[in-house]
Amino acid sequence: MTLDAKIPSGPIERKWDTHRFTMKLVNPANKRKYHIIVVGTGLAGASAAASLAELGYNVTSLCYHESPRRAHSIAAQGGINAPKNYTNDGDSIYRLFYDTVKGGDYRAREANVYRLAQVSNNIIDQCVAQGVPFAREYGGLLDNRSFGGAQVSRTFYARGQTGQQLLLGAYSALSRQIGAGQVKFYDRREMLDLVVVDGQARGIIARHLVAGKLESYAADAVVLATGGYGNTFYLSTMAKASNATAIWRAYKKGALFANACFTQIHPTCIPVSGSYQSKLTLMSESLRNDGRIWVPKKKGDTRRPEDIPEEERDYYLERLYPSFGNLVPRDVASRRAKEMCDNGYGVGPTSQAVYLDFADAIQRLGKDVIEEKYGNLFDMYHEITAEDPYKVPMRIYPAVHYTMGGLWVDYNLMSTIPGLYVIGEANFSDHGANRLGASALMQGLADGYFIIPYTIGDYLASTKFKRVTAEDTPFKEAETSVRATIKKLMSINGKRTVDEFHRQLGKIMWDYVGMGRNKAGLEKAISMIRSLREEFWNDVKIVGSEDDLNNELEKAGRVADFFELGELVARDALHREESCGGHFREEYQTEEGEAKRDDANYSYVAAWEYTGDGKAPNLHKEQLQFEYVKPSQRSYK
Ligand SMILES: Cc1cc2nc3c(=O)[nH]c(=O)nc-3n(C[C@H](O)[C@H](O)[C@H](O)COP(=O)(O)OP(=O)(O)OC[C@H]3O[C@@H](n4cnc5c(N)ncnc54)[C@H](O)[C@@H]3O)c2cc1C
Repeated sequence: MTLDAKIPSGPIERKWDTHRFTMKLVNPANKRKYHIIVVGTGLAGASAAASLAELGYNVTSLCYHESPRRAHSIAAQGGINAPKNYTNDGDSIYRLFYDTVKGGDYRAREANVYRLAQVSNNIIDQCVAQGVPFAREYGGLLDNRSFGGAQVSRTFYARGQTGQQLLLGAYSALSRQIGAGQVKFYDRREMLDLVVVDGQARGIIARHLVAGKLESYAADAVVLATGGYGNTFYLSTMAKASNATAIWRAYKKGALFANACFTQIHPTCIPVSGSYQSKLTLMSESLRNDGRIWVPKKKGDTRRPEDIPEEERDYYLERLYPSFGNLVPRDVASRRAKEMCDNGYGVGPTSQAVYLDFADAIQRLGKDVIEEKYGNLFDMYHEITAEDPYKVPMRIYPAVHYTMGGLWVDYNLMSTIPGLYVIGEANFSDHGANRLGASALMQGLADGYFIIPYTIGDYLASTKFKRVTAEDTPFKEAETSVRATIKKLMSINGKRTVDEFHRQLGKIMWDYVGMGRNKAGLEKAISMIRSLREEFWNDVKIVGSEDDLNNELEKAGRVADFFELGELVARDALHREESCGGHFREEYQTEEGEAKRDDANYSYVAAWEYTGDGKAPNLHKEQLQFEYVKPSQRSYK
């Protein structure tokens, strides 16, 4: 298989415009003849479904939640990037493009990133028109703050609830189309398989989670907007229900999976406090605008933070990276926090934490200003830890947060299966080996509002479709196979819960495929995952029945997929013998402990092809070309 990214020719600033002009259009009257399924109603899915319906296509939209508003996107706190340059601090589309390519450690496709930077300005206009209440500054302009990996302020925000407000905007656009009858919306449906007919994606099999019944949906194209797979690690900042099933089942139907090992570990999360925990909580990166990160200079110092004088504190990010200080990118900040703790400078009861301190900012700006900017985040921290961050520094530690890997897509966001599109966090497209803060919301909405509405039209207009219905044999066969897997799970009747297995898998992932990876550890992880997976299929206990609401069954299917995907993550990490962004192979580091890339041998997207259960996947490579941002050793000093 040859991977063709279908990058348009011409200068980078013109590629998207030229492409939009050369793509085929579906005329307005013909649009109503086409039917598109959009799976997922987070920011990517809701914006896509609404925009496609607005254009006149018939859209079926599904999600496993009881309302589109419950998607994981609602958790996003900090903000969304766009180079409007309102702050007049030197921002531009080119600078956002440059920062993103560099921030991703030169493992992203330049053309996609440039387009993302271009359309990001439109997103802000679109959302303002929808009534999203972005923060404003005194003069009335939208306010901006800074996020990691940038020296300008380009992050638009709505207090610490940006995702929620953006999702309300997308949800209202979607609701309008549901009301108009252009979108048929199905809640509590979980996609369990993709149906491919004559090589084209033509539908899905979903389980009605309340009735426990399987349902088939047919269409001319399928869009997956099903989010990321961070929960492979069990503990993460992602919503508990976020899972990989939709993209994993599509992978098994022929879509290639790209850069599986590029996982983002976010530096500012509330530290793990015990083995009973099922989730971790993010403290938004926006806090690093005003919070200062430090550890005591003395190892094993158990004094209270307020008793440690200024000269005995190490503001290590400010010391090591004077240009970017506390706003270095996430991969860099996370690694340094781990290093401090590994070397004995960690604080708090577990010594697995560093301080994020607001004392200076409160003194400089006043408590009111800090409360106005971050009040809800401070309240959340207080609720969880019973400590008042206005008085004592927060304790933070890195945690799994986002997955840059996902299904491989070309410039049109189409996977290797014709007619299967993948958008938002579910694809691999724009962030390379490390995502910069406030750029996931930007990507999800760019994909949904501004890219897929054009590119899918080109496919529909230039493809011949035979008539397909949900009664056809490929749907019946897919349903039979899904039902067989469900029956197999239900019949195991072992002794251990799904959660026990998931927790164990997560520990393997964190210990050997987490922030630091090495050859021996990755090989060990692969063999441990395999044997745990075998135990799972022999000893898991799922109570209840398959024909009813059954939360344990839902979780079991997802964890079964996490086992397989976890192995692919480890395999991808093992094959990539370099360090880049969030992928830190301990064998490959500079003298200063930074990630050491190997551009001569690994400047490619690793796209894996499923070859059968238990068989090694095939590796395909999409070579990356850097015409504009020349790869160099990333420096934030
Ligand atoms: C705590 C937190 C804070 C964050 N803050 C920011 C921030 O400030 N700025 C930023 O840019 N990014 C932030 N991010 C990242 C960002 O929120 C996500 O990357 C983004 O929202 C993902 O959107 P999405 O639409 O791709 O997927 P999601 O929002 O995860 O939506 C997935 C949708 O797919 C559905 N779904 C999934 N699988 C199936 C299936 N099999 N069948 C049916 N439906 C399915 C779900 O029901 C859901 O509707 C944050 C992430 C976290 C965890």
